[in-house]
Amino acid sequence: MSVRKTWTVLHRCGHEVPHDLSNRPADRRASFARWLEERDCSACWKAARDEDGAGKAEWLAAKRAEEQQAAAEWAEQFDMPPLEGPEKALAWAERSRHQLVTAAYSALVTEGSWDEGDWAALEDTIRTLTRAGWWLDQRAAEGTDLPELLDAATSDDVGTENPFR
Ligand SMILES: [Zn+2]
Repeated sequence: MSVRKTWTVLHRCGHEVPHDLSNRPADRRASFARWLEERDCSACWKAARDEDGAGKAEWLAAKRAEEQQAAAEWAEQFDMPPLEGPEKALAWAERSRHQLVTAAYSALVTEGSWDEGDWAALEDTIRTLTRAGWWLDQRAAEGTDLPELLDAATSDDVGTENPFR
């Protein structure tokens, strides 16, 4: 008696695909074929996975570009100096600075007890901190921590250009 080795499976996606099940135990082939029927064929599974990956990367790139634009506009509006550091870290550091400083403003001024004068003084200090790496190091910090972080910054973190031009 010949044992059936090739099963034509009608997959969930509608594709009929022959599967060679000879590497499975003979008595398990029928149930494995049924298990396959409940799934997409491998071509469809791969296509869906690749599309997910591409879609996610695209979405992330678009989100980054948007954040970058917002950070650049903000730096312009508040006269924030360009950051200094390795080229590949600059964009990320600028986004990081924008996020932390705006978070600090809403925590300390909008929702907190600081007045605009207090904030203006802090902003002057913020302008002196131009080392990209410093802002990257603070990327996970809370807005309320910013004054303390600025106090702890060292002269290495302060820019070479005079911000009070
Ligand atoms: Zn398919």
